[in-house]
Amino acid sequence: MKIQFNKQLDKEVYLAFCDAVVGGTDFGKKIRDEHPDITKENYSDYIDSFYASEKEMLENTLRDTEKCFDEIKDTLFSELQKYFSKDYREEKYTCYLSIFDCNPRYLESKSFQVYYQRSHTMRKEVIAHELTHFAFYDFCNELGIKDSDALWELSEIFNVIFLNLPPLQEAIGAEELLFYPDLKDKLEEIKQIWTKYPDAKYFIEASLRRNLLFVHNE
Ligand SMILES: [Zn+2]
Repeated sequence: MKIQFNKQLDKEVYLAFCDAVVGGTDFGKKIRDEHPDITKENYSDYIDSFYASEKEMLENTLRDTEKCFDEIKDTLFSELQKYFSKDYREEKYTCYLSIFDCNPRYLESKSFQVYYQRSHTMRKEVIAHELTHFAFYDFCNELGIKDSDALWELSEIFNVIFLNLPPLQEAIGAEELLFYPDLKDKLEEIKQIWTKYPDAKYFIEASLRRNLLFVHNE
């Protein structure tokens, strides 16, 4: 996995998120709280000068994030391989450090952003979380399962079950929590399916069949 900065992507993310409220999260406010002087008029120069003036601190964070990945990669890839029967070590993932706390992911390019101010442990959590999404979607793709709201929900729930397995907990050091509270009831049901079907294919198919009965309310 490559870990790098991408100033251009931060400019695009600023424009995409500066007015966005998604699932109850006000991204514009999160941006303004840390960068009170950024505006739609000055964002490009603002981002350039932020990167220039904070260069050293950003580079230190980049090196520390490489350590984050080193601390989880062996356990993460071996647990993913056990579960999905595939070795993801050579996949071309990219982790971009970002100066904004929006943390988008791009499934097509297997890339994602991590907010540079997150703690060392929480950067480990984001990396494990996103790489698990990529593996899950890769596996579903190969089974011919199409993307849908139900699949996205299942992927979030799967992360909570999978990343809380003891070996991963030991490597990451932060409990994996459900980011979307309205999935809580579903988590309990899906956990029962997980216990019943240790095989990835059966687990996903049985969960999606069950998931059809859920009403997606967004
Ligand atoms: Zn997620």
